[in-house]
Amino acid sequence: MTGESRSVNSESFQPSPFIVYPSLFTFGQSKSSNQKMRDDTYWDSPIETLTRDGIEKLQTGLLKSILERAARSRFYSEKFRKIGFDPGSVSSVEDAGRIPFTEKKDLRESYPYGFLCEPKERLLRMHISSGTTGQAVAVFYTKADLEVWADLLARCMYMAGARPGDTFQNLSGYGLFTGGLGFQYGAERLGMLTIPSGAGNSKRQIQIMRDFSTSVIHVIPSFLLLLMDVIKEMKVDPQKELSLRIAFVGAEPYSEEVRRRIEDFYGVKVYNSYGLSEMNGPGVAFECACQSGLHVWEDAYLVEIIEPDTLEPVPDGQYGELVMTTLKREAMPILRYRTRDLTRILPGECGCGRAHKRIDRIQGRTDDMFIIKGVNVFPMQVEQVLMNIPEVGNNYVIVLNRENNVDDMMVRVEVTDRVFVEDMRKLESIRKRIAHDLKGELLVTPKVELVEPNSLPRSEGKATRLIDRRVV
Ligand code: AMP
Ligand code: ZN
Repeated sequence: MTGESRSVNSESFQPSPFIVYPSLFTFGQSKSSNQKMRDDTYWDSPIETLTRDGIEKLQTGLLKSILERAARSRFYSEKFRKIGFDPGSVSSVEDAGRIPFTEKKDLRESYPYGFLCEPKERLLRMHISSGTTGQAVAVFYTKADLEVWADLLARCMYMAGARPGDTFQNLSGYGLFTGGLGFQYGAERLGMLTIPSGAGNSKRQIQIMRDFSTSVIHVIPSFLLLLMDVIKEMKVDPQKELSLRIAFVGAEPYSEEVRRRIEDFYGVKVYNSYGLSEMNGPGVAFECACQSGLHVWEDAYLVEIIEPDTLEPVPDGQYGELVMTTLKREAMPILRYRTRDLTRILPGECGCGRAHKRIDRIQGRTDDMFIIKGVNVFPMQVEQVLMNIPEVGNNYVIVLNRENNVDDMMVRVEVTDRVFVEDMRKLESIRKRIAHDLKGELLVTPKVELVEPNSLPRSEGKATRLIDRRVV
């Protein structure tokens, strides 16, 4: 590792003659915010109003330069040589299928500097992807990368209706997690008063929201659910005493049912926000005011959906694994990255007029799917069922066990305060209903255990919804 760091730092790695990245400047992404072509609807109207044709032409140019740039990294130069791939042979986005895939394990094995295309002197920031197991993945940014990223986030938030004059509270972990600083700079770029309240500190979060009339927030769904109980405890009326207008909610999967619960409780409009550290962080795909899918910013990312087993592209409308290419990143281009996130491209045009492709809500990750008694299950299916039952509270966990070679699935569910004081008969009937509804959705019968409100473990970051004790 130290050897790698040395070689990138000074010896074999020469400063890039590519310091001005032509495509960035051609398309205006590094202009300061007041130079933007902004109007009431669009943050960046020339880019947001591109036609399909325009997007594809733009992408072709960007793809060619990013391939050239990627070939400077140790990882891609070796990879291209090994498989006999000539990056100069790509003449349009149609050829993207010939570019090799990149996987998480490649990033892990090349840790920390194997993907770098710039000398360390040109780097300004590093984040680490939030995976909890295995070797971490480090992502680096140059000044231009940070500019592009802040601008993408400003564009996302503006699209949903956030405006200068709004007060933005970011209830997201700062530090290595991209949701903190990523949104901070995006919100400042947009021109909102930005409060970096960070993760945790539930009561303080509510006080800040109330005292400073926070109108826009960014938060992970599990924390927003948890805050509901805190708000009730504090006897605050969220609809009367808070001024929330827009909530950007993402960083972990959640169902439409959870969106509805949050909207009903807080009286806020929830916009799905998607991103991943390998592609900068948040700002990759967001919902517009139509809320029919999340627009991927195709001036910054090339998006594909593949069948995870055959690796072949799937037609629009069909679910598969999301694959993404950074089209503009200087420090660390990543090509055809297999995100493991399952979604589909929504066919047809969006009512907002933007032609940038839309992906559907993330259904889960291929690595989260588990097989129980021969049936494939995603934690999201369990959530959809639970959150449709009014007596179910805001937290649950799925525990998988194996005893005498037989697998067993247990769903622990917090009930609401109101239900918890009910008699045993009522509780038993709720338990049975949950088991029945889960069986209807999953085709296996799980054990269901009802637990008291606020009794399941909470994490400050992304929620752990699945504990698989079968793996030894
Ligand atoms: P991180 O390592 O923190 O960058 O996590 C990125 C991952 O978080 C993505 O690959 C997704 O699995 C998940 N994620 C981010 N945003 C969303 C979202 N809106 N819906 C579902 N999953 C999401
Ligand atoms: Zn739209």
